[in-house]
Parts: sequence; C-alpha cells; structure tokens
Amino acid sequence: MIDNFGRSIDYLRISVTDLCNLRCRYCMPEEGVPKQSHESIMTFEEIVSAAAAAAATGIRKIRITGGEPLVRRGIVSLCKEISSIEGIDELCMTTNGTLLVKYASQLKEAGVSRLNISLDTLVPEKFRYITRLGNLEDALEGIDAAYDEGFDSIKINNVLTGGFNDDEIEEFVNMTRDRNIEVRFIELMPIGGGIDFDPDKFISCEHVLERVPQLESMGFSDGVANLYKLPEAEGRVGLIRPISHKFCDRCNKIRLTSDGMLKPCLHSDREIPLKGKSFSEMEALIRTAILEKPQVSCTLDSENPSMAGRDMNMIGG
Ligand code: SAM
Ligand code: SF4
Repeated sequence: MIDNFGRSIDYLRISVTDLCNLRCRYCMPEEGVPKQSHESIMTFEEIVSAAAAAAATGIRKIRITGGEPLVRRGIVSLCKEISSIEGIDELCMTTNGTLLVKYASQLKEAGVSRLNISLDTLVPEKFRYITRLGNLEDALEGIDAAYDEGFDSIKINNVLTGGFNDDEIEEFVNMTRDRNIEVRFIELMPIGGGIDFDPDKFISCEHVLERVPQLESMGFSDGVANLYKLPEAEGRVGLIRPISHKFCDRCNKIRLTSDGMLKPCLHSDREIPLKGKSFSEMEALIRTAILEKPQVSCTLDSENPSMAGRDMNMIGG
C-alpha cells in the first residue's frame, strides 16, 4: 500500500515477546521486564491473523523480532505458519544469536530465509559487559551455525558506541573479507536504555569510513542501509544512520508490539491496538496505521530522546 507521502509500505516487524535472555545496556533495564500475563500478549493465532491481514494490505516481508524471539516457546511453528501465508514473500528474523546452535536449521526449514544477528564486540569481557548476561562464544557459535545452514542472507548488527566498540570497527569490517555476510553498523539511538547514555557515546557511522578508508560505496542502498564493500571482499558493509542521516523518506515499515499495538512509526507514541480484533478489523486497522504514518519521526539526538514511549525490546528493532 502507498502511504500519504508516496512510500510503499510492504514490511511488517513483529515483536513476539518482550522477554530476553540478555540485558543489553542500550536496550533493557538490568532487572529485565515483568512477565506479561497470557491475556495481554498476542497469542500465536492472533499473530498469524495479523500477519495474514497485513499480507492482504500489501505487506510482503515480515521480520520476527523481540525481545529475543527464540525464547518464546513454539517460535518455530509460528515461523512455519507465517511463511506459508499467501503474499508473504520473505520471512526474516532478528536475534541475538545465542540460541542459534539449537534453532538455525529448524528456522530454515520453517521458512525463515534471512537472519540479522546482533553482535557489538568480539572481546568476551566486553560482550559480557554490554549484554550484562551473555557469553560471546554462544553468539559466535550461533553465527557459525547459521552461516553453515546457508540462509539467503546473514547480517551482523553492530550498534556503534563511542569509547566502547569503535576500536573494533576494522575487525568487524574484516569479517566480510571471506564470508558472504553483511556487517551493519547502526548508530546508537536515544531509546530504551540508550536514553541514559552520555552524549559522547552517540557517534556517527562516518567513523567507519574514517577508520576504513578502503571501503568503497556500492552506489545503492538496501532498505535503510547504505552499502559499502572492501575491494575483493565476499561480503559487504552497511551503514544505518538514524541520527546523522534520517531515512524517513525511505521507511517502508510498520511494527507490531508483543502486546498487540501497531506502531506506524518507531519513534512516535501513536499506537493502534490489534489484540482481540477480527481478521477484517485487523486489516482495516493496518490500513489506518499505514495512512497515519508520519512523514518524518521526531528530532532524534542525545538531547532529544525518542518519543516511542517504550523500550526497544517491547517494540522490536
Ligand atoms: N534480541 C534480538 C537482537 O538483539 O537482535 C532482537 C531484538 S533487538 C531489540 C533488535 C535490534 O535493536 C538489535 O540489533 C539491537 O542492537 C537494536 N537496538 C536495541 N536498542 C537500541 C538502541 N538504543 N539503539 C540502536 N539499536 C538498538
Ligand atoms: Fe535482548 Fe536484543 Fe535488547 Fe539485547 S538488544 S537486550 S538481545 S532484545
């Protein structure tokens, strides 16, 4: 469907849980989040119905996210059901990767074709620091398992944080030399735990180009990522710059939270409840959300935090 500003909206992100086995400092509070009651989170039937209603409006790509989607019981069957909905051409997942050794092959079989895996550092102590709970080895083994499975695409999401991981930029870029993966650097956003970060932690993706001047622009974008490549490399590098270069004019997505709220824009507090609605009501509400998508999000920088009103684990990044 085309929105009021000429953008074709064909992408839905669904957060299937706000729970997570990690507690990344820029995302979730240390104590985690209170478990929502069964009545308040979307059931699998409701999620499938919302996905099918979205397909009826012209949504073609769905990303399953969270919280950590792999901690929700039954996630593989849910993926199977969503991937078989008529009109859905692509089912993707964003995960922290720590449970992929167990799930990679099951997800592929269930119709997930693309994985985005978060990884901010290659130093075990720093991984434990930023995630508060995680082991780097679990994430690296998960990435290897996914790579061996042969997904259509594997992207590594690295949230750039000044003074924390900017010294590892080169090492991350080098991961693309021998593997056909995309390493994506994402500017830290003042949302969720990120709101409390010091202004000097918000560094621009330009740092990547300064640190690795051999990177060559590929001359095109993949959604919101501007693409670069090292000469002769198998993979590529994506820069996602929500702070330094707003990309609202290219935004093609809407989001559904784990408690059934449809968000036309990540950084706005406008939410449209879908939980408990029939298929046709859902379809009409999804059309409304698309038409209500604002032209641009609020101003976003270290002094002007997101107006989302929720942490990223509830919305789904
Ligand atoms: N748990 C999964 C994971 O970490 O990949 C999926 C959910 S997580 C909320 C989705 C993405 O949002 C991750 O890549 C994470 O790094 C990103 N994210 C969370 N908080 C962020 C923030 N304040 N700024 C930028 N990215 C953020
Ligand atoms: Fe969990 Fe992902 Fe948030 Fe980290 S970024 S706390 S892995 S939901």
